[in-house]
Amino acid sequence: MRVLLALLIAAQHPVVPAPSPASDTAHDVVVAPAPPPVSEPDSTVLRVLAINDFHGALEARAWPWSNGKLVGGAAALKPWLDSLARACGCTTVRLDGGDEMQGTLLSNFSFGLPAIAAMNAFGIDGAAIGNHEFDWSVDTLRARMAGAKYRFLAANITDSSSAARPEWAEPWTLIQRGRLKVAVIGLALRATPTNTASWNVRGLVFGEGAAAVRRVLPRARAAADFVIVLAHEGAFCDVVTGQDPVPAPACHGEIVDIARGLDSGSVDLIVSGHTHSLVNTVVNGIPIVQARSSGAGIAVVDFVRVRGTGGEVRAHIETPYADQVQPDAALADTLRPYQRAIEAVTSRSVAHSKIELRRVGEEYGLGRLIADAQRNVAKADVAIVNNGGIRADLPAGTVTYGDLYAVQPFQNRLVRLFARGEVLQQALEHAVAGDRADAHVSGLEVWYDPRERVGHRVTKVRLTNGQGLDNGRTYTVAVSDFLAAGGSGYTMLRGLPAADVGLVDLDALIQYLAVLRPPVEAPGDERVHRAGAGR
Ligand SMILES: [Zn+2]
Repeated sequence: MRVLLALLIAAQHPVVPAPSPASDTAHDVVVAPAPPPVSEPDSTVLRVLAINDFHGALEARAWPWSNGKLVGGAAALKPWLDSLARACGCTTVRLDGGDEMQGTLLSNFSFGLPAIAAMNAFGIDGAAIGNHEFDWSVDTLRARMAGAKYRFLAANITDSSSAARPEWAEPWTLIQRGRLKVAVIGLALRATPTNTASWNVRGLVFGEGAAAVRRVLPRARAAADFVIVLAHEGAFCDVVTGQDPVPAPACHGEIVDIARGLDSGSVDLIVSGHTHSLVNTVVNGIPIVQARSSGAGIAVVDFVRVRGTGGEVRAHIETPYADQVQPDAALADTLRPYQRAIEAVTSRSVAHSKIELRRVGEEYGLGRLIADAQRNVAKADVAIVNNGGIRADLPAGTVTYGDLYAVQPFQNRLVRLFARGEVLQQALEHAVAGDRADAHVSGLEVWYDPRERVGHRVTKVRLTNGQGLDNGRTYTVAVSDFLAAGGSGYTMLRGLPAADVGLVDLDALIQYLAVLRPPVEAPGDERVHRAGAGR
């Protein structure tokens, strides 16, 4: 879908000459009269191509919304970016909104090296410093920065002792491309200290975004034709349908607050990140885009000079289906040694399973096993695992790391939430709101009646200690960071006090399997009781 953002830009910066079209000099002998201005086409002055939250997604994958089609993957993203740049025939810059490296075995195994290689091949001009950039320490991040052909930017990171910025955190950079100068101001996630292992960011202060932008904006504006804020801060937006013209969707989140904290229209574009959401809106006269995550979207933002009206910004999010381009052979070659390196890991035997664990019916042993693993490792009262996060069956006999990786491929971080009884009750109501229960639980049993209306289906909850839920009490709940962020409709969990357990869901499962007596048997106790099921 192409959303047209009718936004005047001419007043915000000096008129910039459009790049001259390629001309055939052999025919330049006769100077043709200039066509009347009214018939001149719109000219795109600048195209910004942006990705965010790549999370080491070097290989293409299918998504719940992609109808089985593969999306992204480094070898497809490069030709996608190249062709989007070519198609414009204009000046382009390529930006990344941060969280580049953490997230897949292929990237994590080499601490992000192949992800940086991919970003270099993409021709990225600048990147925000995402919270997950700190996952392997500042030293590792600095080593990766040294290997990057682009700048990592954050205007809001300072040293807690000196209040000066660390030398590796550049606030902004100026990209000169032909006659155009584009200033890019970076922002790191303000909540980085609570979104990554705290010891990795000790001594660093992550300041408020709008104030940080305001500090460097006068210099950036004076130096450049366009000013772009590249922020690892996000938002969630309402879906707008059925209206023509499509209005800018209402969004809420940190990046919206940051946009409101700036002078209206004082920057030309905000590229956002972190929430893995689709954002394409305008707040306070500033366009904001975010293109999902893991290479499943490319934000395409055109600054267009329109005859007679000045200018406008046209933004849309492209879905880079892998089968629509010829994969980049050189980048595929670059990644191959990394793929070989993990083959030994993926074939490693991790456990023995007594029987095949299949995902059949409303509740199954594999789901209970994963929920038990998360509750035990997180030392929580309760665990909730959404069924959408359980991606494959587990074979009988030898279970390899690769088998388990296929079951839990998302590398979601395990989070311990602090939820009051009533919030936990809401989460359970949400789990049984569909045609069938959509979650596995540990630490409690739940009875529900699917004939009741949504939100009033849970008839009884019993915790492992035999007691019911106490609305006034606070329980610890183990969930993935995906659910903690309100994913899969668990909006009641969003914003709850949370502690990062320090490992991803897959590692929690492996850690738990290691302490079980072999061969592994999935728990057989029914926990989600459906009224009228006759069980
Ligand atoms: Zn992030």
